[in-house]
Amino acid sequence: MDLYEYQARELLAENNVPIPEGIFAATADEAVEAADRIGYPCVLKAQVRIGHRGQAGGVKIVHDAEEARYMSEHILGMTIHSHKVRGLLVVEAASILHEYYVSISVDRSSRDYDVLATAAGGTEVEEIAREHPEFVKRLHIGPLDNFDFSAARKMAQNIGFHHADNDQAARILLDMWHVFQNTDATLVEINPLAKVGNPDDESTKHLVALDAKISLDSNAAFRHDNWSRFDTHFEQDQLESRAQEHGLHYVHLDGQVGVIGNGAGLVMSSIDAVADAGSLYDTPLKPANFLDIGGGASAELMAESLSVVMSDPQVESVFVNVYGGITSCRLVAEGILEAVHSLESANESVKDIVIRFDGYEAEEGLALISRAGHPRIHVARTMQETADKAVAIAAENLHIKHKA
Ligand code: GDP
Ligand code: MN
Repeated sequence: MDLYEYQARELLAENNVPIPEGIFAATADEAVEAADRIGYPCVLKAQVRIGHRGQAGGVKIVHDAEEARYMSEHILGMTIHSHKVRGLLVVEAASILHEYYVSISVDRSSRDYDVLATAAGGTEVEEIAREHPEFVKRLHIGPLDNFDFSAARKMAQNIGFHHADNDQAARILLDMWHVFQNTDATLVEINPLAKVGNPDDESTKHLVALDAKISLDSNAAFRHDNWSRFDTHFEQDQLESRAQEHGLHYVHLDGQVGVIGNGAGLVMSSIDAVADAGSLYDTPLKPANFLDIGGGASAELMAESLSVVMSDPQVESVFVNVYGGITSCRLVAEGILEAVHSLESANESVKDIVIRFDGYEAEEGLALISRAGHPRIHVARTMQETADKAVAIAAENLHIKHKA
């Protein structure tokens, strides 16, 4: 679960990381009121769960109420990298002397935690790592090890914080570590961690977190009652919350071809196959979702899965890709037929389904589907063929032509 910046700031503040004063605003009226309260100049920041907002025009300094109104209306109407802006954070403007980057994350390849930092903050760390890998310092922390003040201090020195900032940087790294551990986060990132203050007065200079990105591990939700404060109703994807209620591993994407399969790897391959097939059309057709039904694949589970995927108004066809291992394809076929039947009797619209079975009792499953002869259920042999067919049906419904 990715948090919005205004939510991430709450967790940082609760763990003593210094942040500038800020107020969340959902409307332009609220934003102007907040700006008046904070004082001018102040910064308006688009709240979207994606980075690079600054480059996209989602971070603006305003100097008076009139400008605050104009800019907040403008930013609230924006969509940044296909994420609709959900609100504004109004923060006091800081005069930045230097920008650092610091993050702590789960490193899946080395199976430990990674503290990453660079004195060349501000831009995205991937860019810095590409152009100046020697500027990026990395410290691995074993899952059973601790990160203490002396390690944090060594890291700060290593990064090249200016001498006077070392201790404060070390304290912030340590506090970030507490956020990371205590909240079961998979990422705590501050970019920029900025040195602010009056350039002529050493005593006013200090570090503050000007931007914050935190991802929480949803698997740990059961032990954090207070996480409910983060899933505000306006941001939860309707289909995702419905899928979640039924324990389905569903991720809503923005395409036209629904994808259901058993096993995360198979579903991801299916998504790639759909994207590949879809790229051959004048307007590219894309996968509409990720849905892994796991091992069980009962009729009820299949019915609920088809119902969730088909209630996405963008979906034109559904690609079902099942590899029978423990699961019998014959039982899955029965499940699909029952599911379609129950959707029809509930007057839910049934969209075209293209099925690929392989593995245990695949032949029996396909034979069962053929015998049923349902006009909306089709079968294909290979993964590619099935993806091609599902994409072709969606393209036809939408009158999109194959590239010449
Ligand atoms: P991002 O583009 O989504 O990462 O958004 P950030 O919150 O990191 O803002 C982008 C950039 O805007 C920062 O790197 C800063 O250079 C600048 N910025 C953000 N807040 C302030 C501020 O209070 N004062 C000034 N002068 N610049 C700011
Ligand atoms: Mn940033």
